[in-house]
Amino acid sequence: MKIHEYQAKQLFLDYGINTDKGIVCETPEEVYEAAEKFGKCVVKAQIHSGGRGKGGGVKLASSPDEAREIADNMLGMCLVTKQTGAEGKIVHKVLVTPANEIKKEYYLSVAVDNENAGLVIIASADGGTEIEDMAANHPELIIKENVSVYEGYHGYNGLEVARRMGIPAELKKDFVKMLGSMIKLFLEKNCSLVEINPLIIDGNDKLFALDAKITFDDNALMRHPEIVELRDILEEDPKEVKASEFDLNYISLSGNIGCLVNGAGLAMATMDIISKFGGSPANFLDVGGSATTEKVTAAFEILLSDPNVKAIMVNIFGGIMRCDIIAEGIVFAADKLGINVPLVVRLEGTNVNEGKEILKNSGLNIIAAEDMADAAHKAVNAAKGGM
Ligand code: GDP
Ligand code: MG
Repeated sequence: MKIHEYQAKQLFLDYGINTDKGIVCETPEEVYEAAEKFGKCVVKAQIHSGGRGKGGGVKLASSPDEAREIADNMLGMCLVTKQTGAEGKIVHKVLVTPANEIKKEYYLSVAVDNENAGLVIIASADGGTEIEDMAANHPELIIKENVSVYEGYHGYNGLEVARRMGIPAELKKDFVKMLGSMIKLFLEKNCSLVEINPLIIDGNDKLFALDAKITFDDNALMRHPEIVELRDILEEDPKEVKASEFDLNYISLSGNIGCLVNGAGLAMATMDIISKFGGSPANFLDVGGSATTEKVTAAFEILLSDPNVKAIMVNIFGGIMRCDIIAEGIVFAADKLGINVPLVVRLEGTNVNEGKEILKNSGLNIIAAEDMADAAHKAVNAAKGGM
């Protein structure tokens, strides 16, 4: 789960990390009032995405009037950044913070390191820019330091990172403490990323988090009701929100073949085989082992609400899940929703003959497939308009 910068900055302050939480505003008038308190200020679009600065979502204002004008343009705008994709994100809130003088910008983050089953501190002496670009073009400028979750963080971890980043001697102690606080926050709140980009040396010669980004591990959210409260559904893909209401495992992708599959492994294999036949999946969707007609209908609704979907491939291996239940679900959903794209169905396993019979008698225009490869081949052709 992602949260906004203003929420992440509040957590930073709770953990003693130097930043300014600013004032969150939803109208240009509120921005005017906030700016009156700060004088020179920065107006920052609050969307769940980085790269706002380059996209026009971070602007300096030298007067309350200017701040109001900036907010007037920013609120309601569709902000496109490198991370939002071409469709962008609507700005519903802005954060107003006092403008800081920047003497130096660094990059600093803590992330999960799968390879070493621990944490990794990622840092760079050059902040502000996108770290992905830097990692691609200048990997030698990226500093990595592993931290064992068993041994924990020690001062020497922090000092080593500080040395390689070129943190001035008089700030090293503060840096080691700040990094320790980031790791404490990371572990206590079960984060998957805590990022400060840029971490700056400000006009008072102090280390200061100018930006804040925190991502949480969804699987640990049941431990943190206080974090779940920070969720902003407006920022999430409506298709993914609906899927989570029905307990469906759904992830939007950029292709045009909608997939409805039971089991995560089979869902991944389905995506692979679609790609092998030259197609591209529009989503990952695992309806799970306990799919009901209601769930299958919801799944179809989600697939059909995606204008990119040009064909649907149903790939079910009935184990505990019975093929006749799935078939009934498909027929019910088709009746209710009117499926207007080619529908390729491959059923196998428990009650497969009953399932096929139901589909055959339904009068629906279903493209039946013999096996996975046949289904993928037919779905790819159908999506290309070949059927
Ligand atoms: P991001 O683009 O979404 O990562 O948003 P940031 O909060 O990192 O802001 C982008 C850039 O705007 C920063 O890298 C800074 O260069 C600049 N910026 C943000 N806040 C201030 C500020 O208070 N003073 C100055 N001078 N620049 C700022
Ligand atoms: Mg940033």
